[in-house]
Amino acid sequence: MLTEAYLAAHRTTALSGDPAIDTHMAPRAIVLHWTGGATASSAWNTFAPATLSGRAELTKGGALNVGAHYIVDRDGRIERIAPEDRVVRHCIGLNHVAIGIENVGGDPTWPLTQAQVDADAALVRDIASRRPIRWLYGHSESAAIEASPVFEEKDPTYRNAKPDPGAAFMGKVRAAVADLGLEGG
Ligand SMILES: [Zn+2]
Repeated sequence: MLTEAYLAAHRTTALSGDPAIDTHMAPRAIVLHWTGGATASSAWNTFAPATLSGRAELTKGGALNVGAHYIVDRDGRIERIAPEDRVVRHCIGLNHVAIGIENVGGDPTWPLTQAQVDADAALVRDIASRRPIRWLYGHSESAAIEASPVFEEKDPTYRNAKPDPGAAFMGKVRAAVADLGLEGG
């Protein structure tokens, strides 16, 4: 299956060979993103297919589609689109341990909203109350992500530089959950 193949190609830790085990995830990190699009439905349509399409910079990394565990709309509405304990492709090097939260929008056309700051903070707080989350990252924080002790990527040339969800947004979310003592950034 696509997720198993992705993990086999990218993880430095050997897989068990049982997809049920290998695609199961014990989350230790949360990565925040923006979709770059205007609506939650367009995000859902992007993430729904199993196979990646039209993303030349990503196809060399495998056919598995990109996705997320949660979509946060611009009004702060939260929708879960994948189980928290399933591997989803959203952040190079951390997909085996990280829950992905996609915020609808993106600079400069659809700047993220205060409602999304509040929703992301509430969601991070909720997840961290239920699971042993140690790290909170923005997708753009590539240096910190790569320095993470849980980062795994076999291919040293498989990297990308992402702008999402922006330093200002990350600063606001981190301030709202500062009491949790999460690392990263
Ligand atoms: Zn992203």
